[in-house]
Amino acid sequence: MTGTTPAAPFTAGDYRSRMTRAARTAADAGLAGLLVAPGPDMVWLTGYTPTAVTERLTLLVLAPGRDPVLVVPTLEAPDAEKAAGAAVLTLRDWTDGTDPYAMTADLLAEDGRFGISDNAWAMHLLGLQKTLPGTSYASLTDALPMLRAVKDPAELELLAAAGAAADATFEEIRKVPFAGRRESDVGHDLADLLRRFGHEQVDFTIVGSGPNGANPHHEVGDRVLQDGDMVVLDFGGLKDGYGSDTTRTVHVGPPTAEEREVHDIVRAAQEAGFRAVRPGAACQEVDRAARAVITDAGYGEFFIHRTGHGIGVTTHEPPYMIEGEEQPLVPGMCFSVEPGIYLPGRFGVRIEDIVTVTGDGGRRFNNTTREMVIVS
Ligand code: ZN
Ligand code: ZN
Ligand code: ZN
Repeated sequence: MTGTTPAAPFTAGDYRSRMTRAARTAADAGLAGLLVAPGPDMVWLTGYTPTAVTERLTLLVLAPGRDPVLVVPTLEAPDAEKAAGAAVLTLRDWTDGTDPYAMTADLLAEDGRFGISDNAWAMHLLGLQKTLPGTSYASLTDALPMLRAVKDPAELELLAAAGAAADATFEEIRKVPFAGRRESDVGHDLADLLRRFGHEQVDFTIVGSGPNGANPHHEVGDRVLQDGDMVVLDFGGLKDGYGSDTTRTVHVGPPTAEEREVHDIVRAAQEAGFRAVRPGAACQEVDRAARAVITDAGYGEFFIHRTGHGIGVTTHEPPYMIEGEEQPLVPGMCFSVEPGIYLPGRFGVRIEDIVTVTGDGGRRFNNTTREMVIVS
């Protein structure tokens, strides 16, 4: 987590309605409140990111029917006050040498069950449990998976702009030399371009060449790119606080007929996944639509991951496009559609766009060509 809080176009009123909705959703889920640590949920709810996340407790406490309270170390209170959401919450600061858990406990029901951020430090959860032994805790993300899933119009604009910046990055990277350079060199180029086009944070720059492309988790290595390589390029990060994530698979020099065929299958699968996006369809239908194309072509066993994940103030979040996820799609949800085929020891192909659900279908935030691009 970096300390840059980008100038988001959100007002105190926006943050108030998010906090109110979160508290209400928590109550509906049977929770006495939400304990929100610095990170994506806190940024989304308050606009506040501490300059540095340290061992000192910073915690947003949301409980239905009560004003939101942000517990902060005294020395960070002046920073917290500057956050747009600070106008609609109460700051409670604690000084070194006092017990922040006792202060927080005053705000909590003694026997309540609370949703707590997935990224809260264990030491803070243990401190609260020790102070209030009757309380219990649940993963905030598990309890409220759709809390941040439906984006408002301003968020959609920011995600569209992040997608356009990632597209601009692809248009530049396809012009750089590949053959003779290492994957890590191209990865550096990708990071530089993402920053040049406005990203303040680069989350990943995957350059999977030849056999490395068959491992979806490969990031970059020392392998020198050569003529004949398929190269999976998957890159993204945060621009003005909102995420980008796109993949294109390029080829160094002319491809073989088999490489073309596999790329065509993935492209058709990605198109089928995109066409399955419409309000009311279950998340798993997007996965099924993309997977059916790959399975029917005989490559089903080589599509080894889910079809997509949500995106917002992070680059990976609910909803997930995966078999078994029956959550219906709602206009304003944003997620990736990214099928792939991975042939062990040989090469991989993946094509990924961020898509948002509209009133009657889907709209892509990534619009560079999905044809196989030949690089040199
Ligand atoms: Zn090749
Ligand atoms: Zn990606
Ligand atoms: Zn992705």
